[in-house]
Amino acid sequence: MTTHAQPAARNSTSPWARAALGANLLGSDGRLGITIFEEVTALAQKHAAINLGQGFPDEDGPREILDAARSAIADGANQYAPGQGLAVLRHAIAAHQARFYGLTVDPQTEVIVSTGATESIAAAILAFAGPGDEVLTFEPFYDSYGAVIGLSGATHTTAPLRAPDFQPDAAALEAAFSERTRIVVVNNPHNPTGSVFSRASLELVVRLAERHGAIIVTDEVYEHLTFGVPHLPVATLPGAAERTLTISSAGKTFSVTGWKVGWLSGPADLVAQVRTVKTFLTYTSGTPFQGAVALGLGLPDAFFSSAAATLRKKRDLLGEGLRAAGFEVFEPEGTFFTMVDAAPLGIDDATDLARRLPELIGVAAIPVAMFCHEDGAERTRSLLRFAFCKKFDVIEEGARRLGTLRARV
Ligand code: PMP
Ligand code: GLN
Repeated sequence: MTTHAQPAARNSTSPWARAALGANLLGSDGRLGITIFEEVTALAQKHAAINLGQGFPDEDGPREILDAARSAIADGANQYAPGQGLAVLRHAIAAHQARFYGLTVDPQTEVIVSTGATESIAAAILAFAGPGDEVLTFEPFYDSYGAVIGLSGATHTTAPLRAPDFQPDAAALEAAFSERTRIVVVNNPHNPTGSVFSRASLELVVRLAERHGAIIVTDEVYEHLTFGVPHLPVATLPGAAERTLTISSAGKTFSVTGWKVGWLSGPADLVAQVRTVKTFLTYTSGTPFQGAVALGLGLPDAFFSSAAATLRKKRDLLGEGLRAAGFEVFEPEGTFFTMVDAAPLGIDDATDLARRLPELIGVAAIPVAMFCHEDGAERTRSLLRFAFCKKFDVIEEGARRLGTLRARV
């Protein structure tokens, strides 16, 4: 059997190399590596560790939507859906935006269904940014943003989110915009920091985007997972709607990350352009899951509030364990994730720790530096991200094991 080694990416200008560099996917030998999420999950499996790394729930979502997907397959919903998504789901997305946020979205022209939020992010960036443009994200940033900006040929610029509250810094944000900024990507609630951006921060993003003629791409996949603070969609702010593409996903809200059903909504002219790119990325997305997600979006308010309330208890449980283990804990207001500083334990290289942790104590976590470019990686060198979207007893056992770390480093 012949194996084909990946060519070295550093110094290469090919799209795959730009994608790999954009998402920090280079191994130390300069060849394409796997994502940090895959790497950490593989390490967790190898050492039978508790996986508090990759953000996926370890319990299924609501029974009725699982049953609906099964029935859809049994009933023959197994061929291509329309490119923009099944009408039932587009209508459910529009109804969801109206019900929770008072937003009016036309299900015919202002919504598309995608293969996870990931595809919407990719299609939106590829639709509007190219060589000579800048795409601005906050830093730390979710890995796929860096990869797709790399693919697009645009330049990735960043504005830092700093400890302890990880809110946008007004002056740094303003300075990060330029006349070449084509897109500003917002991720709120924010992965990996768990911060929920203030109204003032979001209003500033809108003002700056307006001033520079930039499109706002807002990734709100954790919209229903906030703890005691409301979620404020960017599109609801004055001046935002005409330039904002809002992205979400069923994965987090309904604990079905493997279904890969996401969506994007915004002004018809922008959505039409994103749709063209989506058509040639995947054409259409998983038919039998779409009706089931539509059902989920229509569940009563109690479902959404109790999912967030349960997750909040898990956050608290993990937070207690992390504090007891000696970490400095940054309490998240949303998402699946708690960020900690390992410096109080005398650990300054969290990437090295994350690679050793599964074998050392049987727990896996993600180093925050992997969500950053060089300067940001230096700033976040001792930070780790732990996921708390796991069963209570799993979190308890994880916390117990973390309590043994101090004696071993
Ligand atoms: N955006 C953020 C901020 C995420 O954390 C994730 C990962 N779950 C995604 C997008 C990807 O979502 P999906 O699995 O629906 O593609
Ligand atoms: N969004 C999840 C996380 O941040 C998983 C992403 C992935 O595996 N690509 O952990």
